[in-house]
Amino acid sequence: MKTEVERLKSEKLNLKCQLKTLVQNARLNEEKMQRFSEMELLLISTHSLRDLLQIIITNYRNAFDLDRVSLILIDPDYELLRFLDETGLQLDQLPELKLFSDSTELERCFDKELSPILTTFEPKYSRLFVDANNLLQSVALIPLIRQGRLIGSLNLGSRELDRFQESSSTDFLQRLAAIISICFENSLNITRLERMGMTDPLTCVYNRRFFEQRLVEIVSSSVRYTYELSCMFLDVDHFKKVNDNLGHQVGDLVLQEVAGIINEYLRGSDMMARYGGEEFVVLLPQTPVNDAVAVAERIRKNLAGHQFNLAEGKTLSITLSIGVASMCVGDMGKTAIDLGRDLVKRADSALLNAKSLGRNKVLLAEAISEISDPVL
Ligand code: GH3
Ligand code: MG
Ligand code: MG
Repeated sequence: MKTEVERLKSEKLNLKCQLKTLVQNARLNEEKMQRFSEMELLLISTHSLRDLLQIIITNYRNAFDLDRVSLILIDPDYELLRFLDETGLQLDQLPELKLFSDSTELERCFDKELSPILTTFEPKYSRLFVDANNLLQSVALIPLIRQGRLIGSLNLGSRELDRFQESSSTDFLQRLAAIISICFENSLNITRLERMGMTDPLTCVYNRRFFEQRLVEIVSSSVRYTYELSCMFLDVDHFKKVNDNLGHQVGDLVLQEVAGIINEYLRGSDMMARYGGEEFVVLLPQTPVNDAVAVAERIRKNLAGHQFNLAEGKTLSITLSIGVASMCVGDMGKTAIDLGRDLVKRADSALLNAKSLGRNKVLLAEAISEISDPVL
């Protein structure tokens, strides 16, 4: 009788223990779900590509107490690289983000169905992480899929061997991966649309509308920090003749190449835009007038010596006239809009003077003095 009582007591204790574990697990799962939901909300409310990538990498690692989180994205046309570069995010600032130019290497990691992989760490996975060797014991590789296509992978790594096991459930992770894929595609599309609205489709430099918007912002910050701001107005000489003699399509190609050449001489902080037909404008923040003139002169000289390759081995040479102006310190009582307008107007007037003095010249607005001699 005593042993029966003891058996029941021990069974009760056992059941109590089991119940406690179940309640603990349920609580842990609830907490996990809560963290997943918070993460999802954060992802959905973010439209900027840069913020999205940072949330995925940084927040995920912290929220789920992981040792490594990395994100691989397939970027065949270097589009993503360009977008990130434009937002000022260098890849070396975010080593956990890796851009692969094609999906072959990543596809090799997954099966045909592109199912997530939860397994023991192997050296072959080290390229997907940052400093993973001698640290990670188990990993979860979750494919990011859009319209049946592998677009990247979210990779989680832990120093605990039993954190990711083949038998573990992947529901939460797959759901999160689906949300990441959709958010990523959305923000990529938003970035593309924004870019289309602010760039010129022919030359891929900023358009006039965006230039005018940025002009006010750049002027304001130059006034606030008393930085010198210079402006260049560039116009292709006798461009009508290029169209008339060689056709509009050749004219288009020449304009594209001209934009590329001008760009080569600018710094990352300079801002170039296509102002109109064959006219370009450049803002050079924190640049004294003499430095701006020197840049303009380098562009003019190089372009005048450049041979544009045409069909059938023919070549073409063209020249540029450039007007340069800098923001006048005496104008500080004016609004940023007026200051910007004056700056561009003075650079444009200098350009007109360069034209009337024979073209292929750099002229400075203030002194209206000729800076360069034509290269013949
Ligand atoms: P100037 O030295 O005085 O600047 O002479 P110009 O011939 O360059 O100037 P003008 O304003 O007379 O002609 C500009 C030409 O640029 C006319 C126009 O057809 C051409 N143009 C403007 N936009 C484009 C474009 O997108 N593509 C092509 N191919 N031509 C363009
Ligand atoms: Mg012209
Ligand atoms: Mg013109």
